[in-house]
Amino acid sequence: MSPPRRVSVLGATGSVGQNTVDLLERAEDVEVVALTGGRNVARLAEMARALRAEVAVVADDALLNDLRAALAGSGIAAAAGPAAIAEAAARPADWVMSAIVGAAGLAPGMAALGAGATLALANKESLVTAGSLILSTAARHGARILPVDSEHSAIFQALAGEDISTVERIILTASGGALRDWPVERLASARLADTLAHPNWVMGQRITIDSASMFNKALEVIEAKEFFGVTPDQVEVIIHPESIIHSAVGFQDGAVMAHLGAPDMRHAIGYALNWPVRAALPVARLDFAALGKLTFRAPDLDRYPALRLAREVMQAGGMAGCVFNAAKEVALDFFVADRIGFLDMSVLVEATLARLAADSGFGQAATSLDDVLAMDHLARTLAREEASRRAKQ
Ligand code: NDP
Repeated sequence: MSPPRRVSVLGATGSVGQNTVDLLERAEDVEVVALTGGRNVARLAEMARALRAEVAVVADDALLNDLRAALAGSGIAAAAGPAAIAEAAARPADWVMSAIVGAAGLAPGMAALGAGATLALANKESLVTAGSLILSTAARHGARILPVDSEHSAIFQALAGEDISTVERIILTASGGALRDWPVERLASARLADTLAHPNWVMGQRITIDSASMFNKALEVIEAKEFFGVTPDQVEVIIHPESIIHSAVGFQDGAVMAHLGAPDMRHAIGYALNWPVRAALPVARLDFAALGKLTFRAPDLDRYPALRLAREVMQAGGMAGCVFNAAKEVALDFFVADRIGFLDMSVLVEATLARLAADSGFGQAATSLDDVLAMDHLARTLAREEASRRAKQ
């Protein structure tokens, strides 16, 4: 009998993290090494106890005593702070889920790759901010990256056994988000609550807002280009309101291979957890007769400037992806705080990209984490200046 697989979950308290924990609770052959959270100590401690983790880490240093108290008597070690999260990610493990939201997920993911673990990558920001660095780190340490974003998992599955050189195009499907049926003229008035009513997927708050603005799809276009090594022109986006086709690959013989399933992240998480085995998963089965039809429409670039910006970012190269993501995170914070409007987010990101291009440019692709963190910091500073200028008083 082979020994149990050692697994860790970074961002365990979030939406992807909880779905991962749900699958781990059903798995028989796993040993949980580390679970990390941001601020939700109660949920983290509960999960750590249920899965008998070796260590639980919370990102906020100020919550260390709370975590210790919540784990008292369990024998589970408690730690806090970003450095402790990276250390937990580097603990010997076979499989590490990267499900922290935002650029904060980059360093822990790099640490897991540096230790040679297979990285199940939900944190799309990693490939957007530091694509070539992540891929070269994995190659250097003999570590594998398995995509968990449902679109990228779908593409990965459609490519199984295929020769990448025969791929003509990658077709990313998009639900269109909560505001997809709003008239364009109304979008400027959209508030936080409007953006959170996602029609199909239950996800964390930030990605749900990004779905409404299509910044999520913009990040995914860049992620697909980085991960699958295709050109920007080979990545298409199509709106598919039912979210049943999770994405597709078109080949040079005209064939299209698509992945279909219920909108449930446990499809993609389970595939990455069990790969290369296709194990049974507790997800709803599709009933085609009940579905009746699937619909599609081309995205309107005037409605979704984020998609146009993604193309410009890929064209610019260097660390433009890092700037794009950092400015987007700042813009989202200002929108959530009701300090800028919904459409201001893309205006702000575009202005930050333009300022950086004019000031110092985007440089070369990052070769170290320090390069990325410095560019991320600079971009956030500029984006906050832009945001403050535009903010409601
Ligand atoms: P959530 O907001 O639900 O969860 C985010 C997780 O990250 C939580 O565990 C949170 O902790 C933790 N966290 C937040 N800030 C920090 C920080 N500064 N340092 C360390 N940990 C932190 O996000 P999702 O699960 O929705 O998304 C996670 C990632 O997966 C994102 O990159 C997203 O784009 C991607 N993704 C998500 C999908 C989904 O269905 N949700 C689908 C595809 C990709 P706490 O809650 O304790 O504060």
